[in-house]
Amino acid sequence: MRYARTVADLVGSTPLIRLNHVTDGIAATVLAKVEYFNPGGSSKDRIAANIIDAAERDGLLRPGGVIVEPTSGNTGVGLALVAQQRGYRMVFVVPDKVSEDKRAVLRAYGAEVVVTPTNVEPDDPRSYYSVSDRLVAEIPGAYKPNQYENQNGPRSHYETTGPEIWRDTEGRVTHFVAGVGTGGTITGTGRYLREASEGTVRIVGADPVGSIYSAENDDGVHGYLVEGVGEDFWPGAFDPSVVDEIHRVGDAEAFAMTRRLAREEGLLVGGSSGMAVVAALRAARDLPADAVVVVLLPDHGRGYLGKVFDDGWMREHGFAVDTPDPLVPADLL
Ligand code: PMP
Repeated sequence: MRYARTVADLVGSTPLIRLNHVTDGIAATVLAKVEYFNPGGSSKDRIAANIIDAAERDGLLRPGGVIVEPTSGNTGVGLALVAQQRGYRMVFVVPDKVSEDKRAVLRAYGAEVVVTPTNVEPDDPRSYYSVSDRLVAEIPGAYKPNQYENQNGPRSHYETTGPEIWRDTEGRVTHFVAGVGTGGTITGTGRYLREASEGTVRIVGADPVGSIYSAENDDGVHGYLVEGVGEDFWPGAFDPSVVDEIHRVGDAEAFAMTRRLAREEGLLVGGSSGMAVVAALRAARDLPADAVVVVLLPDHGRGYLGKVFDDGWMREHGFAVDTPDPLVPADLL
């Protein structure tokens, strides 16, 4: 019989899918590594088992323990898939810009969810970092994986995402493009691809306008709406020396591309995927036909139906809406 022992065994081995329409006018091959094929729906499934295994090995997580983590949603789902199987309870702390849908998903997997304000300094007692520290101190048996500093994050991508891309492109990948959140994806995958290619693969980061990674100075650090990427501090999971170039992408272009990916490529993905594709197309613009650009799309779009895919929400936030005039007569609408 052919079956998975648990759903967590199905993490990884996500497909590469060629982009055919948004790439108009580009000679290079642009391949999307579509991470929503992971069972929890995002690239974050990859880091969960390694993080929990290491914590058990180091005696930080014991039977009956509680996993407490500040997460924008996807890391919570990844951790939940593994934690459930091993009998741990979960408390996740999310900033209030994270959609109600995503919070509901975490609760559905059996976690408790604490919501904190987005626009406060990291050292403010209300911030999602401070609140999670307090919960770790107060809940017996609590363990905080801290994905921002945990080296098992980049290690997971070094061990899985990088080798998959190298194998599936038969070593022909020339550029790797990814958004930077904790930095784990670009650090681990980039490091592997650089080593495997003996330094020829170019590593391209994508960063929201307002994030610290591509800000000219601290004044340029401000809020933005795309979720899961960008930061207002430098996490230890990110090694900037792995990145050759970084492109700043605004919310408006990231969201417009996210909507095009759903309508033109059949890929219903989140806003950070649209952001990464904008950066990938910029990097690919002047490349020759034999270049192979791989862009990582971190998560599914279903968690954003009330946001980037909702015309009302888009207009409310001042973004253009490209929905064509309806074919359906007005009396039926
Ligand atoms: N996009 C989304 C939607 C995410 O949840 C994350 C993870 N925070 C990222 C991109 C960035 O990945 P990483 O943390 O590995 O840099």
